[in-house]
Amino acid sequence: ENDERESLFIVNEFARNYFAETLFEREEGINIGQSYFKERGFREETLKKFQLGYCADRWDDFTQAALKASYKEEYLVTTGLTIKKEDGKTFDRYKGRVIFPIHSLTGRVIGFGGRVLKTGDKTAKYVNSPESLIYHKSQTLYGIYFAKNKIRDENNCFLAEGYTDVISLHQSGIENVVASSGTSLTVEQIRLINRFTQNVTILYDGDAAGIKASLRGIDMILEEGLNVKIVLFPDGHDPDSYVRSVGGTAFSTYVKENQKDFILFKTSILLQDAKNDPLKRAEVIRDIVESIAKIPDSIKASVFISETSRLLQMEERILLSELNKLKLKNA
Ligand code: ATP
Ligand code: MN
Ligand code: MN
Ligand code: MN
Repeated sequence: ENDERESLFIVNEFARNYFAETLFEREEGINIGQSYFKERGFREETLKKFQLGYCADRWDDFTQAALKASYKEEYLVTTGLTIKKEDGKTFDRYKGRVIFPIHSLTGRVIGFGGRVLKTGDKTAKYVNSPESLIYHKSQTLYGIYFAKNKIRDENNCFLAEGYTDVISLHQSGIENVVASSGTSLTVEQIRLINRFTQNVTILYDGDAAGIKASLRGIDMILEEGLNVKIVLFPDGHDPDSYVRSVGGTAFSTYVKENQKDFILFKTSILLQDAKNDPLKRAEVIRDIVESIAKIPDSIKASVFISETSRLLQMEERILLSELNKLKLKNA
């Protein structure tokens, strides 16, 4: 099994190199791949740092090159770089896409994401490596290798949705950032962050899906005993588009001024449609106390109870008795 893992790493390393060579040295890569990245505002040093690439828009350009270099078809298929059809024909999974290598904590390439150049056609915007001996999506955070030291230094981890959020923020000087890559956040991902800091700031997209994912993420992060803050971006913006439109300094200022603890965030989101309806208000309060009940540290929990009491003008005594009921139920 260790031998097979090693073989998969080696195949991925060949692929990473091949895709980077295509991006930097072949006409198609320069004209199509590099133009795409440049239009997105990625500088050359950024392409190099994140080892971005391009896969030629031909049926099996990469697969043929790999076979010719004596890589076994079996490993090309298990890493997902090559797709084998029922009739035995093989083709490139990432054909015609720009390539984002995904790195382990130690910087080895465990998988890839590939993005179409133009969205709107029938194919998925991103395709990713399948699960394998070396790639477990639920345990992976995109960018962790590049961010880990900064996360420790800053004692804070920004958590975004996508590859391009991580890359754009790095390019703007904000390097303590990783992405859950579209999947809903997992306990393993939170524990990975916990190796470097106890403080997470969620920077999900400013749309309905982003808000929903934030609400879910909050409870999981609290349950693992970490502290969480949330930043909402103006309508339709994600961290990548926002930092590109305002720059790194203004981005950091925006984050400082708009980050909310989970109680403020939930209050503002949930009260939007609850307004003066007392029943809805009660639901919001209950929802917040349910989140507080997930916090393992009872001193922290009691601080948040006081805050809720102040913000929502509800007697602390009542909130505490509700909290204790929930804790008994959860235990
Ligand atoms: P871009 O700016 O290039 O459009 P994004 O990161 O803003 O990308 P989102 O739609 O916000 O894209 O998705 C966030 C992340 O979710 C992506 O970076 C990617 O990791 C993942 N993702 C998005 N769409 C898909 C898909 N169709 N299949 C698999 N993963 C996806
Ligand atoms: Mn999104
Ligand atoms: Mn985006
Ligand atoms: Mn996005």
